[in-house]
Amino acid sequence: MSKTSTLISGNSTFLQGYAKKNEDLLIDLSENGQKPQALFVGCSDSRVVPNLITQTNPGQVFVVRNIGNFVPPYNEQIEHSSVASAIEYGVKALKIKELIVCGHTQCGAIAALYSDLDPNEFMHVSKWLEQGKKVKDRTLAALDSDVSEETLLRATEQFSVVAQLENLLSYPFIKKMVDSGDLEIHGWMYNIKTGDIQYYDQAEKTFQAVSEKDLVAMEVEHD
Ligand SMILES: [Zn+2]
Repeated sequence: MSKTSTLISGNSTFLQGYAKKNEDLLIDLSENGQKPQALFVGCSDSRVVPNLITQTNPGQVFVVRNIGNFVPPYNEQIEHSSVASAIEYGVKALKIKELIVCGHTQCGAIAALYSDLDPNEFMHVSKWLEQGKKVKDRTLAALDSDVSEETLLRATEQFSVVAQLENLLSYPFIKKMVDSGDLEIHGWMYNIKTGDIQYYDQAEKTFQAVSEKDLVAMEVEHD
């Protein structure tokens, strides 16, 4: 075993570049703590890099990632859940007002819902992916049986994001905050190939491209 990872050489590049250029930001974050504006639930997939695809700095996005960007539904047993604890801490302690569930195209977890994973070899993954069964059933019921694999997978990825938003609302404190307007929840679909993000329009019940008009409206809102 080598003494350290080959990745660590990237840290010296980071130190000489980004860290030097953003010295004030890093000092401020260390002295004053984090005040992230959004909580991002994303897939562990190495192609989905939250800060890169949103062009945000350290301190801006509180992130929890897992295989398939799943949000386990609320469970009164209070089981060990990294997602539930991140959401609870993010919303209650860090006072985050925006929660994003970001799915992505070509998601291996979604594809695995349609494959026969060996539960002996992949006992943890198989168990984790059981959460996707409802999404798979819902997608199959919604689509014609003769759709292409591509159509089936892209639709399942989208249905999954919507299901995770529903699961978020199963947490009493989330539901309460959303109902009172103290918290917004958003569903995104990140396209691995183009880098483009579509958002879930809850009124239209479809994923839509963000238009220039939307961006202008957002800037006005922020002012
Ligand atoms: Zn994925």
